[in-house]
Amino acid sequence: MVERIKQLEQLSSPINPGAEERKELLNKVLEYSENFLNNINTLPAYVMTEDKGKGIYDYPFTPEGAAIDDVLKILKENVDTPGLNPASGGHLGYIPGGGIFHSALGDYLADITNRYAGVFFASPGAVRMENMLTNWMADIVGYPRTAGGNLTSGGSIANLTGIVTARDAKGIKGKDVEKTVVYLSEQAHHSVDKALRISGLAECVLRYIPLDDNYRMIAGELEKQIKEDIKKGLNPWCVITAAGTTNTGSVDPIEEICQIASKHNLWVHVDGAYGGFFILSETGREILKGLDKSDSIVMDPHKGLFLPYGTGAVLVKDKMSMLKSHYYEADYMQDSLDSKNELAPADLSPELSKHFRGLRLWLPLKLAGVKAFEAALEEKIQLARYFYERMSSVKGFEMGPYPDLSVVTYRFIPEKGDADTFNKQLVNEIQKEGKTFISSTMLNGKFTLRLAVLAFRTHVETIDTLINSLIEKSGMISNQ
Ligand SMILES: *Cc1c(COP(=O)(O)O)cnc(C)c1O
Repeated sequence: MVERIKQLEQLSSPINPGAEERKELLNKVLEYSENFLNNINTLPAYVMTEDKGKGIYDYPFTPEGAAIDDVLKILKENVDTPGLNPASGGHLGYIPGGGIFHSALGDYLADITNRYAGVFFASPGAVRMENMLTNWMADIVGYPRTAGGNLTSGGSIANLTGIVTARDAKGIKGKDVEKTVVYLSEQAHHSVDKALRISGLAECVLRYIPLDDNYRMIAGELEKQIKEDIKKGLNPWCVITAAGTTNTGSVDPIEEICQIASKHNLWVHVDGAYGGFFILSETGREILKGLDKSDSIVMDPHKGLFLPYGTGAVLVKDKMSMLKSHYYEADYMQDSLDSKNELAPADLSPELSKHFRGLRLWLPLKLAGVKAFEAALEEKIQLARYFYERMSSVKGFEMGPYPDLSVVTYRFIPEKGDADTFNKQLVNEIQKEGKTFISSTMLNGKFTLRLAVLAFRTHVETIDTLINSLIEKSGMISNQ
């Protein structure tokens, strides 16, 4: 028996490489990543390939391992080439992604030590690190010490966690759902609808509050609707506002909304997945006034703090209400129960085993310092304004509202022919060119182009490149 066990140990040894092999693997991966980073400014923002990465299926898993060179080649050709390059500064579509270097080091360390940050007992330091991060976020939005939070996989799960907490905090049970009213903007992110559905609230009454010309919720209309609903015997429960809508970057009048909500005892959940971290910037601070008056906030470090995908955050002003919705009891967890412990992610979220996300955020904040993030965010706002101002004087382009944060909507109005078709072709031409990547949306039934500045590698030269492409390609299409 021991012989067989020893044999199995030997056979499984490839999953635990020794020092020499680790060194070789690390060197190869480093060479690959340095090659990527050193060329990032010339790599296209978008690549259309014939087979769309399908080639990866040509390399099935085999009993024996493959050589690192071969594996990296498969990765490069089939994964790191086709599609959008979120690490590129030329990514100016959707909401751009990040991928700061320090986070990769944080992930590396977190994965090697594999500290378990779910339960205080298991890794008190890791839990404190994650709490320190959510406390820091609570501080920057102006929440008091009673606040708590959780680092999630992204904004969608953060919205879900916030909405579940709001549901339980206001005592909404299954039998109450049909009379429960949620107020939101037509520009609310679809993850909000999804979260309401997943949390058993699909049958509640949804009130879409009219928006002004800047796509911001009209606070007066909200109050009017709440009063009508009270008269009808319904139960106004929650307002979901946007601190930066994904589509247009609009920020609802949060302070006014919170005043109205508080008068009628409603929960205010702010979806700041895209825009929340702009509160770190000088200009954003003014625009996001009133965040501290809300009950819960979502903000995505993988958007506003330029982290690689996989880190969102939810903050709740009263952390005990988060605990009420997410606590657990299990016999086998009895060692972890101790009132002297800090609340840990497993107490405040649906997760138990989880990635140690804190380290990929803690390390960049420590190494680069907070000031660098503040400056980067301010730069993004100014870049959007720069684009808006320069494009306003380019003949043929019609600009949407002046940007609240870093999203600008605009379209070309051709002298003849259909504007929607023209703009569709314009986006295609820009994507085909690949120097920058922009996306489009429908606004008031019109095909509209969007600029979204949030990649940390986007600088003034990038915006100039896009402007030149827009002028060139629109001229080309006009002359067809
Ligand atoms: C991106 C976004 C979400 C969803 O966040 P994920 O991290 O993609 O899950 C929710 N709300 C807004 C406003 C967003 O921009």
